[in-house]
Amino acid sequence: MRRPSSRRDAIIREMGLGPVWRLRSAGGEADDQSTAVAEMPSPAAPPVDAAANPPSAPMRSAPAGGDAAWHRERAPRTEIAHSGSATRAEPVRPAAGMPDPGRLERIAALEWDALEADIRNCRACVLCEQRKQAVPGVGDREADWMLVGEGPGREEDQRGEPFVGQAGRLLDNMLAALALQRGANVYIANAVKCRPPHNRTPEAAEIGSCLPYLERQIELVKPRLLLALGRPAAQALLNTEISISRARGRIFDYKGIPVVVSYHPAYLLRNPQDKGKAWADLCFARKVMQQGG
Ligand code: URA
Repeated sequence: MRRPSSRRDAIIREMGLGPVWRLRSAGGEADDQSTAVAEMPSPAAPPVDAAANPPSAPMRSAPAGGDAAWHRERAPRTEIAHSGSATRAEPVRPAAGMPDPGRLERIAALEWDALEADIRNCRACVLCEQRKQAVPGVGDREADWMLVGEGPGREEDQRGEPFVGQAGRLLDNMLAALALQRGANVYIANAVKCRPPHNRTPEAAEIGSCLPYLERQIELVKPRLLLALGRPAAQALLNTEISISRARGRIFDYKGIPVVVSYHPAYLLRNPQDKGKAWADLCFARKVMQQGG
């Protein structure tokens, strides 16, 4: 008769190496991004052995400062508010995308608290219009591992923390399989800090607009490794269109920090047959980390 397995064994089985991968919460809501990394991998996934996958030619680093061209000129808005019989003009929140001279330089100099406050007040793109709140990031601010996702979903928008929905529970299990957990040597951020309406994929201009925040977070954390979860995250870090299935098992470069790419957990929820590949990607990332990039 089989002995009851340890929690670690159970997690490893969940990672796709065993027959069943169940969510810890059976009653989870379908709140994770439905659009994240909706691509199928190539049938032959690359081997995960670093020796068999020498570091690729570094790809272009992300530009400092994001997509400034996105900022459009718009007239400030005022709104006529009726209170009782008096009518008065009241300023309303600035429109999304108003010019913000010096924004890039300001963000590049912010320390943690001011950076998070800036993110929470950001109105640089239309994503601010429908958010409940911006979601800056969470975890160990001196972590070796920095994980980058796509953008907040419904639950993240409500709670103000990345990856707290179904995909987040899966991510926590994946981290646990590596004896890691958010907050302990792991920092988690997203390519965009505000929830895209209906969990659509963030547009390139929105990712560009938010990029200065991600860049500053990376600069402050100084991780030893960046793990891009899904295509929008990889595009934010590498400033290029990539296919996750083709980029897996390779080491990219972001300003001297090794970048490894893998599937987004929301994609894995829809495609559980690829969880084993995500586990292989995590093992590859750990090897890259152990070998010092
Ligand atoms: N998906 C993401 O990419 N980020 C989150 O924070 C939640 C779901």
